[in-house]
Amino acid sequence: MWVDKIIRQASDDYIVINDSKTPSGRVHVGSLRGVLIHDALYRELSAQGKPALYIYGIDDYDPMDGLPADADPAIRQYMGMPLCQVPAPAGSSATDMADHYISEFLQIFRELGVAAQTYRMRDVYQGGLFNDVIDTLLNQAPLVREIYAQVSGSHRPDDWYPLQVICEQCGRIGTTQVTGYQHGLVDYQCRPDLVSWAQGCGYHGQISPFDGRAKLPWKLEWAAKWHEFGISIEGAGKDHCTKGGSRDVASAVLRRVLRSQPPVNVPYEFFLVGGAKMSSSKGLGASARTMADLLPPEVLRFLMVRTDPKKAVNFSTDAPYLVKLYNDFDRLLHNMQQTETEQADQRLFASARVTADDLPYAAVNFQLLIALLQIPHLNAEQEVAQRLTAAGYRLTEQDHAQIRARIRSARYWLDHFATDEDKFSIQETLPETAQQLDPAQRYFLHHLAVGLVDTDWHEAAIQTRIFTAARHTPLSQAQAFAAIYQVILGKAQGPKAGALLSFLAADFVLPRLRALPYAPVDFVRQVGISPDQFAQQLTQSQAEMSEIQLEPECYADTAAETSVYYAVAAVRYVCKGKTHIRRLLLGTVHEPDTTARDQMITSMLQRHIVNLFNDIDYVVKATVTCL
Ligand SMILES: [Zn+2]
Repeated sequence: MWVDKIIRQASDDYIVINDSKTPSGRVHVGSLRGVLIHDALYRELSAQGKPALYIYGIDDYDPMDGLPADADPAIRQYMGMPLCQVPAPAGSSATDMADHYISEFLQIFRELGVAAQTYRMRDVYQGGLFNDVIDTLLNQAPLVREIYAQVSGSHRPDDWYPLQVICEQCGRIGTTQVTGYQHGLVDYQCRPDLVSWAQGCGYHGQISPFDGRAKLPWKLEWAAKWHEFGISIEGAGKDHCTKGGSRDVASAVLRRVLRSQPPVNVPYEFFLVGGAKMSSSKGLGASARTMADLLPPEVLRFLMVRTDPKKAVNFSTDAPYLVKLYNDFDRLLHNMQQTETEQADQRLFASARVTADDLPYAAVNFQLLIALLQIPHLNAEQEVAQRLTAAGYRLTEQDHAQIRARIRSARYWLDHFATDEDKFSIQETLPETAQQLDPAQRYFLHHLAVGLVDTDWHEAAIQTRIFTAARHTPLSQAQAFAAIYQVILGKAQGPKAGALLSFLAADFVLPRLRALPYAPVDFVRQVGISPDQFAQQLTQSQAEMSEIQLEPECYADTAAETSVYYAVAAVRYVCKGKTHIRRLLLGTVHEPDTTARDQMITSMLQRHIVNLFNDIDYVVKATVTCL
């Protein structure tokens, strides 16, 4: 696992892992990647018995430099003030805006079992924890300016000092500039034109920069945290880790001014979100909360930690992506329940589960759940429990809780992300759209109904029957499934057909399969092939064919002025253990007398097959079947 390489680089006796977040709006799901990468590192260190601590900083002393997407425009007047000084939205129980946004995020920490201990930058500054660093950095301002110029190529004027004071007149922090430092006091001005997103009041003053009256620019704040908290490992999004970027500046300041070593970096790639509704601004948006509502905690953790931080995660709310994600996780659960489990799986499971007490559980297929939840009058939890019990599971209380969690996930997905194609409803009567089915599909449905009469009403048995009926028609599998979906759902796609039919009562399904009339002669005209065409197929697959039976069939076209009868040879054979049927059009007969006609058809069949099967054993059925 990727954690090993990082842990090997951290040599401290006591390892402190840090991550942080500025609560300037609803937290995006991408922020969870850092949280869980660090948590996985912490868990691994703990598992190895190494003393470690995971701390998570809430950067609530940062200025509000943009209006949160969901905020009341009236709070624009607070732009430039520390986030912890901006009022919470109306109706929120939070003490301030920073608290409002971070509370939702920290609730997710609890749900995911993230073991971080949080701290707020307002407490760090106001508690005087950074007083010494602030004093050092102000005294070393020329060196700090030199580092900025050398590392990032940004040149600061000689009267620039690395600090921002909270303006005594207007309360803004983003608009102030310190221009001098002596005898423990800074000179500062609150400039109307310093930044584009906030306007300073123009005040000039002199003040002590300690105990929360000022904060460091964030690159230096980063270095200050590393120095003061003795941080050993801290990853960052790759956008911060470019050459000459903020990480480089912070590291250089730490080494050259504060005289300590930067932590081990874990540069991580982006967490990208696809799926129309998730990425659109009009939908729910890709907030961490939405993600935690969509996925059960262990699946969300699995999603975040299974991928090496160096690789991007391209998440999507589309059905195929989610089904695969769940299937991948369920394979891990399955592997964990074997007598011997590979170490890689054990460690992945250890970093995915919410608590150390969580055991691998009986997983229920996500795709199946999506179908179950759309079947009227069906108790999904009961149905799933029955199926798992029948498969040999002895369900524990934890298993039941997990089943309920997964049902909530599937329900949430159906309500918020499923497209019209994903959704279906069982049609109470034969849908009008089913009329478009062709004669072969209609025959297939009738033939399937016959086969299902004495089939055990279980998913696997029904699915097998469907494949058999398709081979007997013959009809491609896609065409066969489309026919079933059309008569049951009134649409061309649907969930796994065997599963779908198994949830419905046989006395609903069978009449529905027979409901669409079909004319046998139309069917045979569509699927019938000439003996020559069949002869070509024979040369390819002859060696694999066995148990060949020929059945003479007669299809009457009574629509014609005088009835026409199609003479057909139904060739039934076994190939790779499966029976197939091909219908050969031998010719037409105009004989109204049944006995004479049957004789004519039998002799036509004999004539043809002598040529076709000269070297192969076969059996001919004596009686003619009329359709
Ligand atoms: Zn001001």
